Amino acid sequence: MDDYILTIMDRAASGGAFVGGQCFACGGDPTTGLGEHIIPLWAQHRFDLLDKKLSLLNGTLIPYRKLTVPCCQKCNGGFLSNIEQEIIKFLQKPDFNNLSVRYAFGRWLCKIFIGILVKETTLLFDRSDPSKGSIISHDFLEEFTQAQFILQSARKRTIFHSLHGPHPFTIYMYRIEPDDDFGEFDFSTNLAGQSIAVRLGGVGVVFVNDGGLQYEVGPKGPLNLDGRRLHPLQFSEVSARIHYKAALRDATHLYTSFETPHELIVTQNAVRPFSHVRLAEGSMQIFRSWDDIECAHMIERYRPIKGPPVYDPSTGLFITSLSNNRGGIQSPKRFVRPRSQS
Ligand SMILES: [Zn+2]
Repeated sequence: MDDYILTIMDRAASGGAFVGGQCFACGGDPTTGLGEHIIPLWAQHRFDLLDKKLSLLNGTLIPYRKLTVPCCQKCNGGFLSNIEQEIIKFLQKPDFNNLSVRYAFGRWLCKIFIGILVKETTLLFDRSDPSKGSIISHDFLEEFTQAQFILQSARKRTIFHSLHGPHPFTIYMYRIEPDDDFGEFDFSTNLAGQSIAVRLGGVGVVFVNDGGLQYEVGPKGPLNLDGRRLHPLQFSEVSARIHYKAALRDATHLYTSFETPHELIVTQNAVRPFSHVRLAEGSMQIFRSWDDIECAHMIERYRPIKGPPVYDPSTGLFITSLSNNRGGIQSPKRFVRPRSQS
């Protein structure tokens, strides 16, 4: 019965992946080696990341080359490797009109997202008193399952019936202008919002494990820029806006799944609100209300360089690297080199 994804997922979610050091993708016995690199080695070599570090929730900095999770040989060399190959192939010759690549990136970023979740929770478990019980809430596990469905869809034919759009997640893609001062790689996550953004050379992608809720309110993302060409600094602002919106999410989904030996069918049946706040027009709140000042802090936090403040309390004005107020995209120059240009 090992071919049944639902069985594999039960095993992966039964806690072993978080606390027992079992394979994060199937819950099976891990290999004795390093496990799976969360940011794959091919990307570390290509974008010169071997000595670069990622900051974790508990404040520690961990080099990408040591950022690994337990994984078994079968998953590592099997379906996970196929997911990597699709991305490597796309990056060789990016074709943004190919819509199926969004699924490929959805799976790939889900893999990275789950890897980081597992890494973060394992580290939190290490420090916590086991007698205090599990820090993993029911809502958290439910959304973890949703992410696993997306990842595991690489194992066999999977049909998603999604309520909001073509994918059971939100994804936006951007063409990136090269700028040597910013390098070829950038990576950010917001675990609260379950969002993840990555810039790989000429390609920028932002993924949200929200069942497509953000896609529904903005199919083209912040300022309708999906598919457009952005400077790395502008990509960081778009990412911050998506991370912020993701963190405002106040609902998840109810879904059912059905599996045969040949296919898996996952159906989103309904949106399930978390807080049950009813809006003025009578519907349930899906996103908490947007606050420009909170968003401004988020934009500054995710910026790869120091820049002028996004919000100036003395004038009450906000700046953006994205819009020039004439319907076009701002030139990034004044943000990139604000002093030397003047
Ligand atoms: Zn495995």
